[in-house]
Amino acid sequence: MPRNIYDEDHEAMRASAREFVTRTLAPRADEMIAAKSIPRDIWLEAGKQGFFGLDIPEEFGGAGVDDYRFNAVVAEEMSRFNAATSSCFGIHSDVCPPYIVDLGTEEQKQRWLPGMASGELICAIAMTEPSGGSDLAALKTTAVRDGDAWILNGSKTFITNGYRADLVIVAARTDPSKGAKGITLLMVERGMEGFVNGRKLDKVGMDESDTAELFFENVRVPDENRLGPEGMGFISMMQRLPQERVGAAVSNVAHAKAILEETIQYAKDRKAFGQPIGAFQHNKFLMAELVTKIEVAEAYVDDCVAAHAEGKLSAVDAAKAKWWSSQVQNDVLDHCVQLHGGYGFMNEYRVARAWRDARVTKIWAGSNEIMKELIGRDLGF
Ligand SMILES: Cc1cc2nc3c(=O)[nH]c(=O)nc-3n(C[C@H](O)[C@H](O)[C@H](O)COP(=O)(O)OP(=O)(O)OC[C@H]3O[C@@H](n4cnc5c(N)ncnc54)[C@H](O)[C@@H]3O)c2cc1C
Repeated sequence: MPRNIYDEDHEAMRASAREFVTRTLAPRADEMIAAKSIPRDIWLEAGKQGFFGLDIPEEFGGAGVDDYRFNAVVAEEMSRFNAATSSCFGIHSDVCPPYIVDLGTEEQKQRWLPGMASGELICAIAMTEPSGGSDLAALKTTAVRDGDAWILNGSKTFITNGYRADLVIVAARTDPSKGAKGITLLMVERGMEGFVNGRKLDKVGMDESDTAELFFENVRVPDENRLGPEGMGFISMMQRLPQERVGAAVSNVAHAKAILEETIQYAKDRKAFGQPIGAFQHNKFLMAELVTKIEVAEAYVDDCVAAHAEGKLSAVDAAKAKWWSSQVQNDVLDHCVQLHGGYGFMNEYRVARAWRDARVTKIWAGSNEIMKELIGRDLGF
């Protein structure tokens, strides 16, 4: 199916992202797996090449592109390399900047956005806590007013870019009596006394991403680091989650599509009983189904990207794209592993890693159950 949402300019951006993957990322793939993170110099190079500042206005060092399709093509190319790099870069450059661009004061924008665009300030967003992520309104990290500052206490977990983060958007409870309306966003900076980036968590997949716990012990956060009005943190997050979810959907489809293409080639090359394994009717039909699934998912996600580029994507449609694409991705990659036989279970094959990496996409960015909850509510239940 020809895709019709991208024009020449988007394809030029795709070409430069693909070039970046080939020249800068691919030769260091093993290094990133061993380090369980993306080295600083790669962050800086990605910034230099303009992949981080798409949502950031030019006056603050970004590209000031008001067209989400550019973000989407970059996400697709990073996901074709691997899902972890796409998620780390995506949180930094797709998820976090809109918070500061939309909610930040002039001074905050000047302080943080140029470094985010250049890759010098790695950003993370910390909502989830050890006690729970789905019920965001029940978060327990507290920030108590003390003169011109907030005293922050608590901890966050599973935070993407958490280990390397220089700057973290932290959701904290500033008014215990107000539930969701008692949550405020605070910008916590590396080096603040009492802020500790915890260990890199030992995950089942996404090896290259430095997912970490974050600890806050009496961290004095100046009020000038408050992002947006007091008590508006929950609403601010709800308003920006659709972008995170459509970004996740783009990555899910692109990632599965890349591995499926490799699997189809494998099924042509690998022989059993004197013929390519793909020639057995069972496998041929299976691959026909998988290609169809991917293309149908891609068409829906493309529509969501186009709608989001026009500012018209609803939270419910973003939820549909997120849960469906992650389910399709997991289904497709499971079959891709099977088609690789024993090699599909070996880490040296990309398919094995991709299969492990994909599992979390049904859990994060709002679990698939929470996505269905949102869709169900929209149906009137
Ligand atoms: C690798 C990784 C990276 C992540 N990155 C980040 C990050 O950068 N920032 C961040 O803030 N968080 C991040 N997360 C956290 C992620 O968003 C949460 O794990 C997710 O929201 C689920 O929260 P939980 O783990 O506390 O599960 P819980 O909320 O405890 O849920 C447990 C189970 O119960 C189900 N459940 C909960 N409520 C309902 C309901 N109402 N109806 C039906 N089922 C329900 C859930 O779907 C899930 O299956 C990351 C997680 C991982 C694993």
